[in-house]
Amino acid sequence: RFITFEGIDGSGKSTQARRLADALREAGHEVVLTREPGGSPGAEEIRRLVLEGDPDRWSAETEILLFTAARRDHLERTILPALEAGKIVICDRFADSTRMYQGLSRGDLRALVDQLHDLMIGREPDLTLLIDLDPDTGHARAKGRQGHEERFEDFGPELQRRMRAGFLALAEEFADRFRIVDGARSEQDVARDVLTVVEPELA
Ligand code: C5P
Repeated sequence: RFITFEGIDGSGKSTQARRLADALREAGHEVVLTREPGGSPGAEEIRRLVLEGDPDRWSAETEILLFTAARRDHLERTILPALEAGKIVICDRFADSTRMYQGLSRGDLRALVDQLHDLMIGREPDLTLLIDLDPDTGHARAKGRQGHEERFEDFGPELQRRMRAGFLALAEEFADRFRIVDGARSEQDVARDVLTVVEPELA
């Protein structure tokens, strides 16, 4: 099974991805926990190219190509081999993040994102957990973190609100695989909800 977590910055999705991996391992599953951008040596190098340094280094279109290249490498080297070996793959962000961040933040480039996805990725998760949170709470949480690559200092409240609405719209568009979890509660409560959603899907 291929499970992804999505949400705006500070939504708690990375914490929840880790907690789910721990819970499933305790239940005896073999789990690979991975993340995007990154998740394979080559894709982690691309992550650095995109997230570190001058934010204007790449055009919006080049950035989509870089994210797609990173995802292709991650898929080939990490995700598909693990799925073929019968493991559960849990990924912190996947193509839905590119549909949102690269598709919405610098003009409407969703069509280009989708074309490249069809051409080079062509794989959707079996289950996507959207950790939904209002951007003000998310921002406060993200700011409190240390050593985190905050990419867009200028990901202001307006864009964050568009991202949240965009993720909710995406959950309707791909309603078959999306489940929305309310992220505005304690870590434990959200983790419990996540397990409640995931367990029947694994049965
Ligand atoms: O999920 P994570 O916190 O590791 O993401 C690192 C940074 O990259 C965040 O600021 C996020 O908004 C950004 N990002 C992006 N486009 C993506 C995925 C992440 O701009 N497709």
